[in-house]
Amino acid sequence: MEPPLTLDEPGRMLMGMIVRPLRVYVSPVFRRIGLMLLAAVVTLASPALPAGGQDAPATPEVAVTDRVAPVWDGTYRRIRVPILMYHYVSPLPENADEYRRELTISPDTFRAHLEYLFFEGFTPISLYDLDEALLTGRELPAKPVVLTFDDGYIDHYTHVFPLLKQYGFTGTFFIITGRVDARDPNYVSWEQVGEMAAAGMDMEPHTKNHVSLQGRDYDFLVYEMLGSIESIKAHTGRQPHLFSYPVGQYDADTLAVARTLPIWRAVTTANGRYHTTDNRLEMPRVRITGGMSAPALASVLRGD
Ligand SMILES: [Zn+2]
Repeated sequence: MEPPLTLDEPGRMLMGMIVRPLRVYVSPVFRRIGLMLLAAVVTLASPALPAGGQDAPATPEVAVTDRVAPVWDGTYRRIRVPILMYHYVSPLPENADEYRRELTISPDTFRAHLEYLFFEGFTPISLYDLDEALLTGRELPAKPVVLTFDDGYIDHYTHVFPLLKQYGFTGTFFIITGRVDARDPNYVSWEQVGEMAAAGMDMEPHTKNHVSLQGRDYDFLVYEMLGSIESIKAHTGRQPHLFSYPVGQYDADTLAVARTLPIWRAVTTANGRYHTTDNRLEMPRVRITGGMSAPALASVLRGD
C-alpha cells in the first residue's frame, strides 16, 4: 500500500523551510490540505532518489553493511531528548482488555501527534544520532525527539510507516523476530521489515520470543538477544546496534551479555527524558499510554 504522498530528503528540507515559518498563520482547517499540496509540489520538484518503497528488495542480496561506531571524545554529556515509546497504533478491537487499551492509540490520534510535532518544530532523530551526540558532541537539531515502536505489530507497517513517510519522519522499530519467523499475521513480515529498513527506518531487535530477560542463564540470553540481532541483520542487510528489553525487564547478567554483543544503545521502559554518555544500555523512555491525545503528548514532552 502506497501512502498518499512521500517526501525524500530534499523535499523534507524544503517542507521544513516553507511550512514551519508559516505554521502560525495557517488556519487549522486548511493545514492538512496545505500540507498535502505543498508536499505534492515539493515531491514533483525534487530529483528522483531511490527511496525504497515497492522497489525495495525483500531480502537484500548485498553484503551486510555497518555503521561506523562513534568514538568517545572524553567529554561526559547529559542531553534531554524524549524517547517516545509507542505500541499499538490501530483501531481498538471490540473485545480489547485493559492491557490492550493501555497500549493502543488510534491512527487518527497518532496522526495528530505527528501533526503536533511537525508544526511545533520538533525533529524526530534516530537513537544513532543521539548516541553520536552523547559521545562526540555532534549537534542535534532543535527540539529533538525519538519515536520508538515496540513489538513489530502489523499496524506498524499498515498505519505507522505510511504516516511517518508522509511527514518525512523516521522511527525506530523493535521487532520480536520469532513472531516474524512464525509468519504471525498480527506482526510484520520479513518483506515488510526489509522495505521499512530500505526506506530509512531503524529496524532493531527486541529478542526472539519477547520473554523477560531477568534471572536467565548465559545461553538463554545469547539465544534471545544475539538470535534476534542476527535475524534483523540477515533480513535488512544492515548490522543493528540498538536493543529493547522485553517488558523492560533485565538484570546484571542481561547487561553483562549485552556488553559482549554489538549493542551500542538499549532502551528500557523506565520513565525519563535525560540521557548520558554512559547510560548506553539503560536509556529511559516516555510511555505513550492508551488514547493519549496530542495535548497530553505536549504535556509529557514538556515534563521532566
Ligand atoms: Zn515489547
